[in-house]
Amino acid sequence: MIIIKDPKELQKISLKLRSQGKTVALVPTMGYFHEGHLSLIDTVREKVDTVIVSLFVNPTQFAPGEDLDNYPHDLERDAKLACERGADILFAPEKSKMYYPDHSTWVEVPELAINLCGKSRPEHFRGVTTIVAKLFLTAQPHIAIFGEKDWQQLAIIKRMVRDLNMPVEVIGHPIVREASGLALSSRNVYLSNTEKELAPLIQKGLRNIKDMVDKGESEALTLTSELRSFYQKNIPGSRVDYIEIVDPDKINLLEKVSGPALCAVAIHLGKTRLIDNLLIKV
Ligand code: AMP
Repeated sequence: MIIIKDPKELQKISLKLRSQGKTVALVPTMGYFHEGHLSLIDTVREKVDTVIVSLFVNPTQFAPGEDLDNYPHDLERDAKLACERGADILFAPEKSKMYYPDHSTWVEVPELAINLCGKSRPEHFRGVTTIVAKLFLTAQPHIAIFGEKDWQQLAIIKRMVRDLNMPVEVIGHPIVREASGLALSSRNVYLSNTEKELAPLIQKGLRNIKDMVDKGESEALTLTSELRSFYQKNIPGSRVDYIEIVDPDKINLLEKVSGPALCAVAIHLGKTRLIDNLLIKV
């Protein structure tokens, strides 16, 4: 595996690979790898000739006061893990190589960024779509893979690719969880021991809601109120950012669960904000 820091160099290599008829996949990440990231690498490893993993903590998707400066970072550890899982290239650019001081071009999918994380983090997805578009143009992948843990992000990227005719196949990957049910996240390292014990209840609550739907409940308000009470009762000290039921593709709020529906939550446990989701109707 080689480590590349210069976007121009990566673009040159990728264009050459493509001209030789090789297939290329991109796994965009912000690093501090866990099994979630690594299973994305495993999945594309089987599909293409060359796997590029990008590691870039993208400043434009963090608002002031969010955890940009403290985001966990260990390039050596990540390089070893990515290499062990068969990545060919680790692209780890400096911030100054990805953004000119007067950067002024943005890619936005505002309609899908109104609800869920877009509500409490209004500029977040503009940063995500802009960096992913830049990564696509730099790495020139045939395939790019994203985790369903960040469901709204995946939906937005699929829409961006569709709307802009980007020649990239976007693949989603199911959420990778600990045995306890807690969705793996680089941010789990911030959790105290007590918080770590309580965090699996986030998924437990979502499963209860799916059970209610399976038994015939269809009022979104009833379902979300039930989940709110469950968290209040069972995860003391937690603070709900949002609990919403949305259309899985359009990310608009649903009043009734009749067709495909996703229940998505963001919960603050102490200083850590965790997200999770579950398709409650397929
Ligand atoms: P991040 O480094 O947090 O930006 O994540 C990089 C990619 O890994 C994104 O596509 C995430 O959705 C995906 N990812 C993160 N955690 C998980 C997980 N627990 N299961 C599946 N995919 C994940």
